[in-house]
Amino acid sequence: MPNRPRKPFTYSEPTSVVTGAAGFLGSHLVDLLLARGHRVIAIDNLVTGSIDNIAHLAGIPGFKFIDQDVTEFLFLDAAIDYVWHFASPASPVDYLDLPIQTLKVGSLGTHKALGLAKAKKARFLLASTSEIYGDPLVHPQPEEYWGNVNPIGPRGCYDEAKRFAEAMTIAYHKEHRVETRVARIFNTYGPRMRLNDGRVVPAFISQALKNKPVTVFGKGKQTRSFCYVSDLIDGIYRLMMSACDQPVNLGNPSELTVLQFAKEIIRATESKSEIVFKPLPQDDPRQRQPDISKARTLLNWEPKVPLETGLVKTIEYFRAKV
Ligand code: UDP
Repeated sequence: MPNRPRKPFTYSEPTSVVTGAAGFLGSHLVDLLLARGHRVIAIDNLVTGSIDNIAHLAGIPGFKFIDQDVTEFLFLDAAIDYVWHFASPASPVDYLDLPIQTLKVGSLGTHKALGLAKAKKARFLLASTSEIYGDPLVHPQPEEYWGNVNPIGPRGCYDEAKRFAEAMTIAYHKEHRVETRVARIFNTYGPRMRLNDGRVVPAFISQALKNKPVTVFGKGKQTRSFCYVSDLIDGIYRLMMSACDQPVNLGNPSELTVLQFAKEIIRATESKSEIVFKPLPQDDPRQRQPDISKARTLLNWEPKVPLETGLVKTIEYFRAKV
């Protein structure tokens, strides 16, 4: 038999689809994937995301942007290895404003993204949230905790959509054998958060930079634990590449009260702002701190960036915007 000429060995890059790619987390994820040699198809309908977050990627080989609502059917020609489902309004102010779109993207959007993963035999990662624990009665929150959610309260549209999204993801895993990963993301901060998204980090930093009153809701005794974005995205990548098909908490366990956080922002910005107290929004979780034992053991991951360091970078970003 004659010797056939051998095809030259070609290394094929993995292809990733990122929904919500123009958002805060989505855009940082796209940067990381491109840096790690993935081709990236970025999808966003720009309802809460911003094209500015991915403008620096225009024209880069291996990067493609599609302006689409992920609740619509997703047709893509390419072979796809990974689907990272990040599309959703994520700030309480945004989802209060867009309750139906929030419910739709968490339910119909997750269904479409899972359908795409199934059709392409791709691995799927859901960006879930600490909000699935609601106003938690267990502290810190381990993945085994089922949560304390008010389905018809102002946060219900987000919390229940994400709980549905988790249920749908696990169902696709069980019934269709899709390889799935679920990241429960706790409060994360960093450059590219929207200045007016109403979340505590952009709110306090922009108020402090303008020397305007810093608005603490309630008495500021509620707690949050803030993770810097580069740490979070590293955890997300590790989770996707791991064998872990059960939900994993990703966040920084270092917890502080909102009042302590306001003081820290005033210090870090060298602001003259005073603190003023405003009514606590309904169903605002009183405490939140991730138990990250699972991520430590299964992903060999834990956050590295201290709050002071992360805040310097975040404040620098907002200084140019206010
Ligand atoms: N918060 C505040 N002042 C603000 C914005 C938020 O005191 O101007 C509080 C809010 O009530 C909550 C915490 O900061 O207890 C974090 O709020 P955020 O909207 O960032 O997200 P959440 O963690 O509640 O989803």
